[in-house]
Amino acid sequence: MQRKIRLLIVEDEEAIRTGLMDVLVYHGYEVACAADGPVGLDMAMSGQFDLVLLDVMLPGMDGFEICNRIRAEDRDQPVIMLTAKSTDEDIIQGLSLGADDYVAKPFSVAQLVLRVQAVLRRSRVGAEQDATLRLGEDVEVDCRNLQGHRGGEALSFTRREVDMLQYLRLNSDRPVSRDELLAKVWGYAKNLDIETRTVDIHIAKLRRKIEPDPAKPLYLVTVRGAGYRLMVE
Ligand code: CA
Repeated sequence: MQRKIRLLIVEDEEAIRTGLMDVLVYHGYEVACAADGPVGLDMAMSGQFDLVLLDVMLPGMDGFEICNRIRAEDRDQPVIMLTAKSTDEDIIQGLSLGADDYVAKPFSVAQLVLRVQAVLRRSRVGAEQDATLRLGEDVEVDCRNLQGHRGGEALSFTRREVDMLQYLRLNSDRPVSRDELLAKVWGYAKNLDIETRTVDIHIAKLRRKIEPDPAKPLYLVTVRGAGYRLMVE
């Protein structure tokens, strides 16, 4: 059982704060809140949060200052700025102080959740989580030791197979073409005349391992005319 990912919301507007909290809790995160700058800074500096969502205009101390101080203490602490003023200047200032990303208000909740997921994926918590790939209810792949299981059945993978799965997972919002897999996983230049059948053979081998019925893939699906897509939650 993995521990829950902990997020901190520093936001003085109650409606936004509680709205964000509800959504993020719904998505499985553990969430704490601060309503002003100094409290937000203290909590952020405690080092117990995997990601800080930081409003810019805050009573007591603004978000840029908080971000600056967090960075001085912990270079790797992921921070997303929530900026009401979506002028380029604000955004550039936020990013130059080391925020990992920014979201301009008013933002859609779906967009914010995607940004949170993306920043976490690039962070140390992402590195920990990425070590394990889960598909559906019963497939688990440990990407570090190339072992896994489907239900009670033990599986072993080649490094190339795991690299493919990880690349597909990283791009699971879209199908990935054979050419792209050859370029990114094999490192072949696109104009080399390498048979794309190499990719298909590896896909077939992977399906025999992870799919309940390799003829009717649930996880590693073919998107006609586009390539392959990994169906992760
Ligand atoms: Ca504010």
